[in-house]
Amino acid sequence: MIDIKSMTLEELTAWLKDQGEPAFRAEQVFRWLYRGVTSFEEMTDLSKALRQRLAETALLTPPQVARKQISREDGTIKYLWRLSDGNCVESVLMRYQHGNTVCISCQVGCRMGCAFCASTIAGKVRDLTPAEMADQVLFTQLDSGAPISNIVLMGIGEPLDNFDTVLRFLTLVNNPDGLNIGMRHISLSTCGLTQKIDKLAQHGLQLTLSVSLHAPDDETRSRIMPVNQGVGVERLMETCRRYFETTGRRISYEYAMIDGVNDADWQADLLAKRLRGAPAHVNLIPLNEVEESPLKPSRRVAAFQKRLEGHGVTVTVRRRLGGDIDASCGQLRRKAMKQGSE
Ligand code: SAH
Repeated sequence: MIDIKSMTLEELTAWLKDQGEPAFRAEQVFRWLYRGVTSFEEMTDLSKALRQRLAETALLTPPQVARKQISREDGTIKYLWRLSDGNCVESVLMRYQHGNTVCISCQVGCRMGCAFCASTIAGKVRDLTPAEMADQVLFTQLDSGAPISNIVLMGIGEPLDNFDTVLRFLTLVNNPDGLNIGMRHISLSTCGLTQKIDKLAQHGLQLTLSVSLHAPDDETRSRIMPVNQGVGVERLMETCRRYFETTGRRISYEYAMIDGVNDADWQADLLAKRLRGAPAHVNLIPLNEVEESPLKPSRRVAAFQKRLEGHGVTVTVRRRLGGDIDASCGQLRRKAMKQGSE
């Protein structure tokens, strides 16, 4: 069976042409797919024979809402999706002034092993498909009724560890016949896979790259992020500079503030030094406590911010949305796993 929704419009056109269908047929089918049909039967302007043939040769894998939590504080909605093989992943709908943003997952679990992150505790189960990624955006929009204008790849998984799928996903959501979301409205967050950052730069996409830095010194970063071991902050920052030079896009650095680990003044000073040479933006994230981890939120966020600003660094502190609904970092999936409902 062919995973029809993971095909680009060009591929779909070629595939249908091989079956003797005219070129416009692919657009017709593509539009149905992005209206959220869950069966070929619903594609009512196709002939019965074609619908039948599609049902016999192609697969649709719409996710089902396994759980949904709505924040009473700010209308944030967290979805736990059940995928067609029974695995679960999360998405979060956030309502910002600049538009509705959905945060989506790219893998079932994660193999990067960051010490503060709930998504990685049980390792990686599998990569998502392009269709499963696009469907998180589409079905969030359909279920909530909120038109989505921005996407952030900051849910469960490491996007650059599922590189080809993520690129295909970007092509799919970019398509005007699909979700029509422009690259400038998409952010991709990575724990810092240097070779993949170089590879991404070659594509020259206008998306925003967020790098999860979390510490400016190797001792701390290697301790909380195994991905740093053998690479080092210096090489990561060189890669980021190259990325900026190639794409012209300013990088955003994420920094989760952890009590007594990465929140000292000397670390703010070193961070500012590391950022010299290319425009950057630092986003300080108040740590979300994860039950399985001894790490605690820093009490020095404001002081750290001030120290960075003193060095001329552009800094923002991430506003907490959906604090009442575990709206971050694989926590809902963990909970569901622990309760054995997955
Ligand atoms: N794998 C990607 C994207 C997923 S996580 C990455 O590493 O960037 C999105 C962001 O949330 C990352 O910056 C991640 O480090 C951060 N994060 C993970 N767990 C967190 C926690 N408990 N508190 C605050 N931020 C966390």
